[in-house]
Amino acid sequence: MQILTILGSTGSIGVSTLNVISRHPDQFQIFALAGHTQVEKLAEQCRQFSPKYAVVADKNHATKLRELLGSLKIEILHGKQALIDIATASEVTGVMCAIVGAAGLPSALAAAQCGKTIYLANKETLVVSGSLFMETAKANGAKVLPIDSEHNAIFQVLPHDYSGSLKDSGIKSIILTASGGSFLHTPLNELAQITPTQAVKHPNWSMGQKISVDSSTMMNKGLELIEAHWLFNCPPENLEVVIHPQSIIHSMVRYLDGSVLAQLGNPDMRTPIAYCLGLPERIESGVGDLDFGQLSGLTFSEPDFARYPCLKLAYDAMLVGGSAPCVLNAANEIAVAAFLREQIGFTDIARVVEHCLSQSEFISGSLNSIDELLDLDSEVRQNAAKWINSLDA
Ligand code: NAD
Ligand code: MG
Repeated sequence: MQILTILGSTGSIGVSTLNVISRHPDQFQIFALAGHTQVEKLAEQCRQFSPKYAVVADKNHATKLRELLGSLKIEILHGKQALIDIATASEVTGVMCAIVGAAGLPSALAAAQCGKTIYLANKETLVVSGSLFMETAKANGAKVLPIDSEHNAIFQVLPHDYSGSLKDSGIKSIILTASGGSFLHTPLNELAQITPTQAVKHPNWSMGQKISVDSSTMMNKGLELIEAHWLFNCPPENLEVVIHPQSIIHSMVRYLDGSVLAQLGNPDMRTPIAYCLGLPERIESGVGDLDFGQLSGLTFSEPDFARYPCLKLAYDAMLVGGSAPCVLNAANEIAVAAFLREQIGFTDIARVVEHCLSQSEFISGSLNSIDELLDLDSEVRQNAAKWINSLDA
């Protein structure tokens, strides 16, 4: 029996995780659920899964949740420390890290420090603190299992004894597939007019708002390059990106002998979630069979940096290394939030990120503690917000 904490249980990944878990009540028990400010949804999940703890953002949301739960015997906690506490409790065997953004970093890192099995959906953790996070996991025997569909696909087609060296495993490169988002064919001169409603509608996947916008700018693929770099110890020059609009091939590994191994499936996050939760067995996920009769074709093309400047910014930040990916991520989070509230346009997202990366005081060698990383993260957020406000003026 696995005893799990789900961080971000009310989000898209959290809901898919609980859906998989509900199919296997004999294998998983929920220790804690964390839902930030979405108390109605969290209350519903609490009634279904009876966790020992439920965690929300603050006291007000704790009061609301208590009212909704009535006399149900669930302890309600609030605040950032509570996220760490439920991720590190001694009873817990595994932690699903499905909070969105750098807000998910402290709890994921704490779980790594305690040697938990980490189901990692929160890619921002690896972008902001890849080196620190992977070293911490290794030093404490924490298993890091990739939930992100591309990384999960790669994980499935790498040799089972993959040691962390492409060369030793006869691998030439890792190929991330990307849908290209909703604006793959939009004329370039129309991109500036794209609205948040258009940008959050992904053609193939149903996801949270932030990652949906990231997919349409392809910042998501940029973050995923950095994620793959750390997860698989893959040098930047051995990473490829190919646009595959149907999202059926979830990623591939190119071997020295000319073989390319791919993982295919319907675009539904319950497949990678079930793969990781079930290891070493395969378990039912609820995802329908891939129907080849219904596929009109699988197509591929190269990404165009003029259409996707965020992809180029992320690629360059990965090459610079050190603090650059942390700067990239913080600036992007602020820019996407400003875009969603219609303060800036779609094409301004890349401009904000580029502006912050060009501030040389932010770019340094590696940052070795979470406090240093979080300080930089908050400095960059302030800088990005200030610059956005100056655009308004
Ligand atoms: P979402 O917006 O649907 O859900 C986010 C969850 O985090 C919610 O439970 C929310 O309450 C919680 N949350 C938000 N801000 C918080 C904060 N400051 N502190 C604590 N909790 C907070 O997002 P999502 O689409 O489920 O994505 C979650 C993570 O998984 C992201 O890092 C995303 O990049 C990654 N991911 C998502 C998908 C997908 O299909 N949705 C695929 C791959 C990777
Ligand atoms: Mg992905």
